[in-house]
Amino acid sequence: MQKQYEQLGICREVYEFGSRIEDRLKERFQKLDETAEFNQAKVLHAMQELRVSAECFNMSSGYGYNDLGRDTLEAVYAKCFHGEDALVRPQITCGTHALALALMSNLRPGDELLSPVGKPYDTLEEVIGIRPSKGSLAEYQISYRQVDLLADGSFDYEGIKNAINEKTRLVTIQRSKGYAVRPTLSVKRIGELISFIKGIKPDVICMVDNCYGEFVEDKEPLEVGADMIVGSLIKNLGGGLAPIGGYIVGKKECVENAAYRLTSPGLGKEVGASLGVIQSFYQGLFLAPTVVNSALKGAVFAANIYEALGFDVLPNSTESRHDIIQAVTFHNPDAMIAFCKGIQAAAPVDSYVTPEPWAMPGYDSDVIMAAGAFVQGSSIELSADGPIKPPYSVYFQGGLTWYHAKTGILMSLQKLYEQNLVNKDLMC
Ligand SMILES: *Cc1c(COP(=O)(O)O)cnc(C)c1O
Repeated sequence: MQKQYEQLGICREVYEFGSRIEDRLKERFQKLDETAEFNQAKVLHAMQELRVSAECFNMSSGYGYNDLGRDTLEAVYAKCFHGEDALVRPQITCGTHALALALMSNLRPGDELLSPVGKPYDTLEEVIGIRPSKGSLAEYQISYRQVDLLADGSFDYEGIKNAINEKTRLVTIQRSKGYAVRPTLSVKRIGELISFIKGIKPDVICMVDNCYGEFVEDKEPLEVGADMIVGSLIKNLGGGLAPIGGYIVGKKECVENAAYRLTSPGLGKEVGASLGVIQSFYQGLFLAPTVVNSALKGAVFAANIYEALGFDVLPNSTESRHDIIQAVTFHNPDAMIAFCKGIQAAAPVDSYVTPEPWAMPGYDSDVIMAAGAFVQGSSIELSADGPIKPPYSVYFQGGLTWYHAKTGILMSLQKLYEQNLVNKDLMC
């Protein structure tokens, strides 16, 4: 085995250090396997109940009227995630688009949007208008209020109570930490927050940005009171197979509003050809529980490796997991870049290219991204990225298979090792 890794460019010291870390994780991995098994049964049951058949994989074009595959898939999503209805479309181009769509279709001029969990994901700043942008909610007289988490990561209930007013129409709750250094919210905590908010204002719409959280736990946010969950198909639920797409699942009215905005008033869900991608949506959802499981094993492995080497890792080596992201803070741009180069070098695609920091649209500083993915930009595939600014944290996620995730992490360490950016004494 060590020879196999040597062929990939990983030296004996790094391989053996990794093996020792992996040996300690057996029990942890078994727990993760149980969650995957639970969620696999969930998906399978939904597909059987909705009578998914070979006809569902037929391609529709043009208007896409009566697209059985599209309509059945949406019913499968609704069933799987406990929603009344769902919108799952290749016309939703990415996660940001899905979130923008959910917000813009369910808010009206004069309404207020509230984030009770601090600053939302970077790209949403322009959607909301926190950073002025053409077409933002702010341009449509939709105001925004934010209540930050308290220093210990808990909800600022007093602040949230004070922030809710007669204009508050929609509350956005980001499950994953995204690029922030704060804990990811468990589904249980999301449920507690929603109960509190609905206790103050029952008719407020509670939306959860579900990106990176799907299938990490047994439960999903609609089961604890959320009205709408929103995410991307080039993350968890696409299972690495969906080449594009986003989803919104939840209350019938919320989904309907989104459908009328995505296509057109009067048309809604009735149009929207699935082109040739619908089979990959089904198959991706079917594989998603095991793909998420691989990504989680990779994240836990990375946390244990880098914590043992003295770096700050979030979550830490033993904490429970609520999304697939692993942050490693290097306090050093060179180490951050070396890490990303290792992830890139371990990829099945574009392994020979070198990632460089660049000014990506939607982000306010240079970003480095490492990904050699089959689907461009897919972050359920092994990838690492982060803004080039202090504290120089890398956000690492994905891995279609555990073995590839493991290779990527060992390769990241190899790059740090070669450049003397780790304390080698800690590896013995
Ligand atoms: C990835 C992500 C988004 C945006 O999705 P894109 O597909 O990158 O546009 C939004 N919110 C969270 C929490 C995310 O992780």
